[in-house]
Amino acid sequence: MEKIMLNNGVEMPVLGFGTYQVTDPAECEKSVAEAVRAGYRLIDTAQAYGNEEAVGAGIKSCGVPRGELFITTKVWFRSYETEDCRASLEESMRKLGVDYLDMVLLHWPFGNVYAAWRVLEEYNEAGKIRAIGVSNMEADRLIDLITFNRVKPALNQIETHLYCQRQAEHQWLEKFGVAHQAYAPLGQGRANEMFGEDAVKTIAAAHGKTPAQVLLRFQIQNGVAVIPKSVHVERIQENINVFDFALSDAEMAQLKALDTGRPMIGDAENPDKVEFAMTW
Ligand code: NAD
Repeated sequence: MEKIMLNNGVEMPVLGFGTYQVTDPAECEKSVAEAVRAGYRLIDTAQAYGNEEAVGAGIKSCGVPRGELFITTKVWFRSYETEDCRASLEESMRKLGVDYLDMVLLHWPFGNVYAAWRVLEEYNEAGKIRAIGVSNMEADRLIDLITFNRVKPALNQIETHLYCQRQAEHQWLEKFGVAHQAYAPLGQGRANEMFGEDAVKTIAAAHGKTPAQVLLRFQIQNGVAVIPKSVHVERIQENINVFDFALSDAEMAQLKALDTGRPMIGDAENPDKVEFAMTW
């Protein structure tokens, strides 16, 4: 598995396993164990997914030592006050059955982001979290956070896929040394037309690969880490099988041209979506 060197020297697999909406405990445990068997080493969960215990059961039963795994979880924005954030981190570790976390992200840039960030810094400096980062944070807020805190975020996990490539945001992340990780790299199954785009189908056929593999490979070649989710064994295996081919410059350019520049799922800059998020 290829790895990305984060800004604090910690190495993170470039491809991981997403677990959003995997809420059935038995299915979640089985999927995580299948993913590890297929070669995934990074597992992405969150307090808000309600599946940390099942993810923990999966990493316990997978047969690979804890030290070889990279576990990411996220703090929900309603737990950003200092004591709430500490309690959230302790609860995540207890549910996951681990005594340290590899990566913790602030799930959304709402509420008391600064208080929560300083708790993450505290845990990071105490060696309980190897790397800390943010999610759904646009470059303007990220620059602010970097400027007024000790520890720079190692990662921004943000919706990124064929139709929302975040080309400008990626430049900012590179400039500030923050790694870029794509959530919903397959459009969360909401944008099935992505798989049917002529360019995607033609490129997939040329390499003897599937559209999903081309979409994931495209992100990786753009310097973006990916965490696709599936609960089907054959898709779990398919989604990690993207390291034995490379897209040409011409193919990359064809795919880049399909960017609409608009997120479909998460958008912390859209007041309608933010107002709705406040009900969560
Ligand atoms: P995704 O883009 O990974 O899409 C998953 C869906 O794509 C599946 O449910 C299935 O319908 C389809 N799919 C998967 N593999 C396929 C294949 N090989 N062929 C055809 N279809 C396939 O969407 P996601 O789950 O939302 O995102 C990935 C992960 O990112 C999540 O599981 C979660 O861990 C994380 N995430 C984070 C945030 C955040 O706010 N930080 C938000 C959403 C997701």
